[in-house]
Amino acid sequence: MIVKAFAPSPLTLGLQALVRRLLPSHPQFPSLQQELKNKEAGDFAEHYVLNELEKLPQLSDCYIFHNVILPTIFPMQIDILVVTPSGIVILEIKNIRGTVHFKEDPRQLIRTSDTGQVQAFSHPEIQLEQYIQAMHHFLSEHNMVIPIYGAIVFPFNNVEIHREGRGLPIIMGRELPMFVHKVIAKNRGIATNDITNIILSQLQSRTPFPLCRYYQLEVSALQKGVYCENCHHFVMEKMKRTWLCRRCQHQCMVAHVQALRDYAMLIGDTITNRGCRDFLKIDSEDVAKRLLQKSLQTWRNTGKYTKYNLSSLLESPIKVPKSPVNQ
Ligand SMILES: [Zn+2]
Repeated sequence: MIVKAFAPSPLTLGLQALVRRLLPSHPQFPSLQQELKNKEAGDFAEHYVLNELEKLPQLSDCYIFHNVILPTIFPMQIDILVVTPSGIVILEIKNIRGTVHFKEDPRQLIRTSDTGQVQAFSHPEIQLEQYIQAMHHFLSEHNMVIPIYGAIVFPFNNVEIHREGRGLPIIMGRELPMFVHKVIAKNRGIATNDITNIILSQLQSRTPFPLCRYYQLEVSALQKGVYCENCHHFVMEKMKRTWLCRRCQHQCMVAHVQALRDYAMLIGDTITNRGCRDFLKIDSEDVAKRLLQKSLQTWRNTGKYTKYNLSSLLESPIKVPKSPVNQ
């Protein structure tokens, strides 16, 4: 069963907002647009693998997590983690097109695209080894010693893989059921419930926000205003009850919420009334106040200016379900 479901990575959501708002003439626009495409491809592949794992009958008694960050000695961000009676399986998912070479000395991943463009990536095996090591350390701190298996998974047949030397398994999507089957067959009677509860209780989240600071962009490079989902321009105007697009007449009562979310991901997690009027292109102080107070759970008065906390608008990437285990 899936205990931590798929959610798009915060960086993907932030990049979507950034690419939407950054002027296409900005020098960093093409590279950010490419980074967004890569992130979306990565998220798509992780979602696909999660769905495939969920269908496997062998995993019906196992616990599956998407995007696991735990407090460990090494930085960790595991794409997919499965707790099985044979141990823990860590999957590093790759969605890279073209021809890839896993180089041995030094370890590097070299990709040649269909157009002949050559690009170097960090070797996924290095990352996976680090996660396995970190997971062993994490479990030992909870007095647990259990086997940990890792694999690099290319879910789609859009890649030709060449490998030097041997190391952790590199498998294609279609091999995943067999890989899982081999692991499960070693059944060591491990207490999957206990491990799952420990992981659930320690899950952390991490975001790179605000992205203007992360990518060293001037806030002035962003387009202001409220976005029309229908015609993709920042021309929504505040009417009495709703937002109305001046270009295509599309109406949306909550169009400002995405704009405030964009502000939180790109500029900062607090906003003043003046900042809100400026970013949403609203004239009235009262209208801005009403929108902010209605959209947000908390704000605090800091003397002259009330600062509104936008972080409640960023859905927590951790949606921890009720413990899968009755204790
Ligand atoms: Zn429109």
